[in-house]
Amino acid sequence: MGDLSEKRAVVTGAASGIGRAVARALADEGARVVVADLEEEGGKRTVESIRESGGEAVFQKTDVSSEEDVTAMIDAARENFGGLDVLVNNAGIEGSDQQPITDLDVEVFDQVVAVNLRGVWLGMKYGIQEMLRDGGGSVVNIASIAGKVGFEEQSPYCGSKSGVIGMTRSVALEFATQDVRVNAIAPGIVQTSMVERYEERNPGAQEMFDQVEAMEGRSSPENIADTAVFLASDRAARITGSTIPVEGGYLAG
Ligand code: NAD
Repeated sequence: MGDLSEKRAVVTGAASGIGRAVARALADEGARVVVADLEEEGGKRTVESIRESGGEAVFQKTDVSSEEDVTAMIDAARENFGGLDVLVNNAGIEGSDQQPITDLDVEVFDQVVAVNLRGVWLGMKYGIQEMLRDGGGSVVNIASIAGKVGFEEQSPYCGSKSGVIGMTRSVALEFATQDVRVNAIAPGIVQTSMVERYEERNPGAQEMFDQVEAMEGRSSPENIADTAVFLASDRAARITGSTIPVEGGYLAG
């Protein structure tokens, strides 16, 4: 029996990286999890690894920028587990290589906003509707330190992540009296395929990333997952509208 036994959860972008670690950690605490992602093979691997540890999970192929897919994802929680208590809006993309706004194609902006901002908005819209049918719940949005400070030549990503933090505050206020808590996490540099891809394409990124966090090294997906479990659980009963940094002290500087 863990902190989340009896809870029903959806995690987006759960085929890899932070999302997979969050899905596994929620399941380890007793939650039943809908693993949602565009990427089927990785998603099914996440489901398998949860089942191998004795947990319960199903895969739902989902593009979070599609309204139809997001409603189907929330329906999957109801159909498989009877409802929804925890929603982790984690799916996100980095979008582009480092480029000044004057050189960026508008398509890159549209794509990043569609996944990182519209995807989180749609998840909250339909996820909270479902939570309200059954006593409330907890939403955890994965933002970034890039939503708290500027990173040069990353305007679509920084804009989308600031937007996630703003929407988190706004929606938290909307449901504060209805037992739906809405919080965000702002990770620092987390060793995932997103960071690896970015380092491959952008010379100098590896050195820059190594110096971002005040603590030695980088954050792990499991560090982010631990905070997601806490925010999802009743131990965070009085926390709403917050963005919790998990970034090895970067924002203290
Ligand atoms: P990742 O690339 O390893 O995982 C992202 C997952 O999202 C992938 O499985 C991918 O298939 C999925 N995805 C992408 N577009 C999707 C869509 N339209 N619909 C559904 N799924 C989609 O990256 P990660 O590092 O694990 O990133 C997870 C989240 O954490 C992102 O929102 C990212 O912005 C955020 N974040 C990451 C870091 C970092 O350093 N890695 C830091 C701060 C914030």
